[in-house]
Amino acid sequence: MLIIGNWKLNGRKENIKNFFVKLNNLCERFNIKNDISISPPTIYLNKSYNVLKNINNSRISLTAQNIDINLSGPFTGETSVEMLKDFNVKYIIVGHSERRIHHNENNEIVSKKFYLVKKNNFIPILCVGESKRKKIEEAKKNIKKQIDVILKYCGKYSFRNSIIAYEPIWAIGSGFSADPDYVNDIHFFIKNYISKEDIFFKKNNLIIQYGGSVSEKNVQDFLSKKYIDGILVGGCSLLVETFFPIIKKSDAI
Ligand code: PEP
Repeated sequence: MLIIGNWKLNGRKENIKNFFVKLNNLCERFNIKNDISISPPTIYLNKSYNVLKNINNSRISLTAQNIDINLSGPFTGETSVEMLKDFNVKYIIVGHSERRIHHNENNEIVSKKFYLVKKNNFIPILCVGESKRKKIEEAKKNIKKQIDVILKYCGKYSFRNSIIAYEPIWAIGSGFSADPDYVNDIHFFIKNYISKEDIFFKKNNLIIQYGGSVSEKNVQDFLSKKYIDGILVGGCSLLVETFFPIIKKSDAI
């Protein structure tokens, strides 16, 4: 299972070393088997990379929160996918709802980013999800649209070695997570839909994470479902004290 902590626009340089050392020690002590990754703000990737490099056999990888659609040039404030190669980044989040909403990222931009991530041999984590609580059929229609643009722009094999994070926007940061059975149904729908487009693709090979107010209290309700393969954690990933209990509980499944 894949457990990712997305720090968003949070964190300070002086806390990074302590966070990774403490988290890694706990993962070692409890012999954690799941795949753990942290997504710090871009400006802290360098520090995180250096700290992790100095931890022997660290099993924590790095995830980037975003890239630009350009590789270099006059694009003030941006980060290119190529720059991330310097920091041993493994996953790159694409199309997080906060970027779609606050930075006007439409499906075309998201597709371009997804394409660049794949082309540069990183693993994309494509975020999809409906903005308001809806009937499940409507939510599926919305997600289908978000997936279709990727398939159209990047080809029908796009989701090989890719990850999808299903994050109903209304559940993010709200304290109200979605119903695990509802999420399981949506994940099943996505897996089936993609394996119909790419017939050689085994639907069980596609990792789909759930994200939206996951905590120590509800993580097992999600991960015990057949089609939920991991979680993307926002708020609760900021402190080892709230993140590690989630990791430990997910490892017990
Ligand atoms: C997220 O931003 O991807 C997220 C899931 O946040 P939170 O866990 O805080 O709801």
